[in-house]
Amino acid sequence: MITRRDCLLSPAALAAASTAAASGPAPVVISSANGLRACTRAMELLKTGADTLDAVIAGVNIVEEDPEDVTVGYGGLPNEDGVVELDASVAHGPTRRCAAVAGLRNIKTPSKVAQRVMEQTDHIMLVGEGALRFARAHGFKEENLLTEKARLAWMVWKQSLRDASGHNNWAPGLWAPSAAALKSRFPQVDEATLAWAWQVAVHPPTGTINCLSLNAKGEMSGVTTTSGLAWKIPGRAGDSPIIGAGLYLDQDVGAAGSTGRGEENIRIAGAHTIVENMRHGMSPKEAVLDALKRIERNYNGNRDLLAKFDINFYALRRDGQHAGGRLWSGPHASYAVNDGGASRLEPCVCLLQKRG
Ligand code: ASP
Repeated sequence: MITRRDCLLSPAALAAASTAAASGPAPVVISSANGLRACTRAMELLKTGADTLDAVIAGVNIVEEDPEDVTVGYGGLPNEDGVVELDASVAHGPTRRCAAVAGLRNIKTPSKVAQRVMEQTDHIMLVGEGALRFARAHGFKEENLLTEKARLAWMVWKQSLRDASGHNNWAPGLWAPSAAALKSRFPQVDEATLAWAWQVAVHPPTGTINCLSLNAKGEMSGVTTTSGLAWKIPGRAGDSPIIGAGLYLDQDVGAAGSTGRGEENIRIAGAHTIVENMRHGMSPKEAVLDALKRIERNYNGNRDLLAKFDINFYALRRDGQHAGGRLWSGPHASYAVNDGGASRLEPCVCLLQKRG
C-alpha cells in the first residue's frame, strides 16, 4: 500500500529534482513498446534543438505511416463497416496547449491534424466529418487507409460472427467457422496471415502509440495516436483523443499517456490522474500503479473480469524520471525509452500477475 509518507519525495529524489532544475534535465523520450523507432527519431530531433512536440510527432509519424502496425494510422484495423477511423491528441508543455481529433478518416497522420487544430484554431477537439474537412482545408492528402491485410482481417471477423441460430450472411451455408475452414475461403492467402487474421477477428486487438518527451530546457510534450479498437462501432472514440485520459501534460509536473482498453482508462481519467499523483509527490511508478489500482477497483478486484482486457500507462516526470505500468504481467509488459543512446525496452511495473 502506498502511504502518504511514501508519497513524499525521498531526499535522493528531491536532490535529483533540484539538480535537474539547476542544470536542466537530461533529455529523454519514452513511448509504448511499439515506439522504439519513434523514440529514436524524436531524440535525434531533440538533439538538433527541435521543439518537443515536433519531435514526438515526427517520431509517431513513422508508426502512423507503417502499414505493418495494425493499431495505428495507415494499415490500422477498421471499424465494423471496414472503414479506418483514427484518433489522436497532442499536448505542448511550453505553451500549455493541447488538441485532438477523433473518428478521422482518410488521413494517415492524425497527430499532425491534431497539432494543426492546436495551432490554427481556438478549439480543442474536432471529430468525424468536421475533422476531415478541416484536414482537407489545411492541405492534408486523402488516401484509402485500409490495407489488403487489414481488409482480410475485417472480412474474417465478419465471417466469424453468428446470430442466435448460428447463421451469418457473410459465410457460405451453415457450416461452423473455424481457422481451418478459412483456407478454403481465402485460398490465395498464406497460412500465417490467415492465422493472424483469425486471432485478431476473435480477439480484437488494442494497440496505439503514446510518446512523451523532455528536452534539456525542461520543456515537455506528448502525443497519442491510434486506429482504436478493431471492429468498433463507427463513431466510437476511445481514450486516445481524450485530453486527461489518453494524454495529459502539465509543464510544471510531467506527462502521462495510455494505450490499451480505452474505455477503462476514460473511466478513471488515467493520464490526468497520474500527473496529479506526481504533483502530490508520487514517483512515476507509484503514480501509474495507483491508476491501475483504480481500474482494478472498478471491478472490485474480480480477476475473471479484469482478465478480459489489458491497459498500459506511461509517465514522465519533469525531472526526467519515468515509468511504464501495465495491468497484467507478461511478455509484452515493457515500454520504450531513449535517453540519448539507442532506444531500448524497459520493463513495466505490473499490478496483477497472470496465473500459470
Ligand atoms: N486505447 C486505444 C483505444 O481504446 C486502443 C489501444 O490502445 O489499443 O482506442
